[in-house]
Amino acid sequence: MNTFERIVVVAFDQLSFEHGAMASANPISDLIVLIESQRMLSGRNWHPERLFFMVSSARHFAAEARVRGFTVVYRQAASTPEGIRAIWAEHGQLPTIATAPASFGQARQFDELGIKTVETDFFLTPRRLFSSWAEAQKTFVMENFYRLQRVRLGLLVEGDKPVEGRWNFDEDNRLPPPKNYVWPPRLTHERDEIDAEAAAQLGHSATDLWATTRAGALRALDHFIEHNLAGFGPLEDASTNDDWSLHHSLLSPYLNVGLLHAREVVDAAVAAYSRGDAPIQSVEAFVRQIIGWREYINGMYWFLGEGYERGNGLGAARKLLPVFTKSYQTKMNCVSSVVSDVEKRAWVHHIPRLMILSNLALLTSTNPQEFLDWMRENFIDASQWVMVPNVIGMGVHADGGRLMTKPYAAGGAYISRMTQYCKGCTYNPKLRVGDDACPFTTLYWDFLDRHRETFAKNHRMGQQLMGLNRLSDLPELRERAIEVLDGLEQGVI
Ligand SMILES: Cc1cc2nc3c(=O)[nH]c(=O)nc-3n(C[C@H](O)[C@H](O)[C@H](O)COP(=O)(O)OP(=O)(O)OC[C@H]3O[C@@H](n4cnc5c(N)ncnc54)[C@H](O)[C@@H]3O)c2cc1C
Ligand code: SF4
Repeated sequence: MNTFERIVVVAFDQLSFEHGAMASANPISDLIVLIESQRMLSGRNWHPERLFFMVSSARHFAAEARVRGFTVVYRQAASTPEGIRAIWAEHGQLPTIATAPASFGQARQFDELGIKTVETDFFLTPRRLFSSWAEAQKTFVMENFYRLQRVRLGLLVEGDKPVEGRWNFDEDNRLPPPKNYVWPPRLTHERDEIDAEAAAQLGHSATDLWATTRAGALRALDHFIEHNLAGFGPLEDASTNDDWSLHHSLLSPYLNVGLLHAREVVDAAVAAYSRGDAPIQSVEAFVRQIIGWREYINGMYWFLGEGYERGNGLGAARKLLPVFTKSYQTKMNCVSSVVSDVEKRAWVHHIPRLMILSNLALLTSTNPQEFLDWMRENFIDASQWVMVPNVIGMGVHADGGRLMTKPYAAGGAYISRMTQYCKGCTYNPKLRVGDDACPFTTLYWDFLDRHRETFAKNHRMGQQLMGLNRLSDLPELRERAIEVLDGLEQGVI
């Protein structure tokens, strides 16, 4: 029997041999432990595709570790602490280490168990470095952080100047969905025995959309660079019914569980630019998402503290609407299409997450924590650190404007301009009152009306409030808004 000197606990979202505690693990002296906690599996109403992805990826990682010569205990237990205590009972209470967890909750759990943690290098920005940036800011403008990141990480810069003379090509990147466009082929992933076992245990028939191995994640990265990077920038904000992923990378699940690292992903994009395979406007846009938004959101999660996720600055108290759990419980084409996409794949891109799902929660004053829970349970790439600032700050403005100075509220006219959903809808995006009025248009004005005082001092909301003051049909609009909200609660609007 082996006598080990240490136990290395690997969390399901830190599946890497090159980063974190595994980087220094030794097959002879370290016992590798992964705990599949029943509390994690059944504690919430998880989307089965998400659970499948998490469990199968962890089991593939355990199998790969054995191939590399490690002794691995993959233990099913009622909870993570119970699993770890059982391992200690069997192997003795050896010094136990892990990578610093990705959420406050797990950090506390490891702390209580006395597990020592090594600093995480799953991100490109050490937490202390981010805090020192944030502490020096009056407002947390992502663009300022991003430019520093470009220089610090030496990406798309010549000295401290951006290549091709501009930091940001956003202005060139707002094209609507093109007509008669041929979208690239989509990569699929063959399922193996480990996948089949995980799917059977979960009683789920898995899609072939998401890789569950490092090799599959690398294939997804190559596929993105070859087929989608060049078109990524111009169409990054577009939304269309013709293709569900457009030129998006579909890499977030792998980045968030450690199967890919941010550095290799941006390096691959910059290498494509250097070879002349992708234009600056696309490569810059993609690099900004990874070293800008992703790092900024992670930094802000830790900087804003654990209480941030409980924010409810607009006093939103409505229970989660039935349409979030059953896509057919609404006649709003945009909402039912997007929720149905989530039901199928546990993923939609950034714009539907913001413009449709979060916007609906914001305008209906849905309780932010109920909406946050739903988002966490239903997205393949959901992690606490990324959902909390994106939902509480960016999506539903529940943080009193700490992250974003104004709420992302949009009416039907804007959705109609940016997407194709309105063409097939019962409602008319131009109308705000009457039975045919678009619920988003009605609720947009009603939301501004209800929060008039809160936003009065916000100069970025001045134009919208002026628009509200010019409405001649406010009494009818308020009545229609009540009907719409009741109808949404009953699943008939
Ligand atoms: C309300 C809301 C909730 C979100 N929840 C999540 C989540 O749970 N997990 C998640 O990874 N992303 C989340 N995002 C960000 C973004 O929508 C997804 O990262 C993206 O849609 C994933 O698809 P992709 O990999 O094809 O992204 P691409 O469009 O190809 O972008 C490339 C990468 O940039 C990063 N990125 C871009 N925007 C953000 C952002 N705002 N925050 C963090 N990373 C970003 C992601 O790692 C993504 O993989 C959320 C956004 C909103 C508005
Ligand atoms: S009309 Fe309104 S509800 Fe219908 S698809 Fe357009 S925005 Fe959505």
